[in-house]
Parts: sequence; C-alpha cells; structure tokens
Amino acid sequence: MTAALADPILTAVDRCDRCGAQAYVRVVLEASGGELQFCAHHARAVESTLRPLASVWHDETSRLTDPVALAED
Ligand SMILES: [Zn+2]
Repeated sequence: MTAALADPILTAVDRCDRCGAQAYVRVVLEASGGELQFCAHHARAVESTLRPLASVWHDETSRLTDPVALAED
C-alpha cells in the first residue's frame, strides 16, 4: 500500500496544464522546483519524459476508477 490515496491533494479546481481538464497528477521538477499538473491522459503522455526529471510524482489517477473515493469529493 502507498500513502498517496490517504493524502489526496488535488481537487476539482486543479487543472491540467495541457488541456484544462481536471488534474489527477502533480509533478515537481527536480531541477527547477517548478510544479506541473496533468490530467490522467496527459500524465501518461508525458510520464516517460518527465518522471525521470521529477522529484515528486503525485498520482491520484486511481481515484478515477474508485467510485468510493470520487463520492467523497
Ligand atoms: Zn490534459
């Protein structure tokens, strides 16, 4: 088990930097400290490029397939 789901930090007001959809992944870049947020689709699209550069890869995409977690919003 990971702690990610016990500590959700992304909400409906957090938006994908690419398309404006609701963000489910928050990334902090190791070099710049800059933050990026992505929807599930774009997180997958950029993961192979950005994940090696990220100091934080906070992934809440599992909430998309967990109706209990979604209902708690
Ligand atoms: Zn997106």
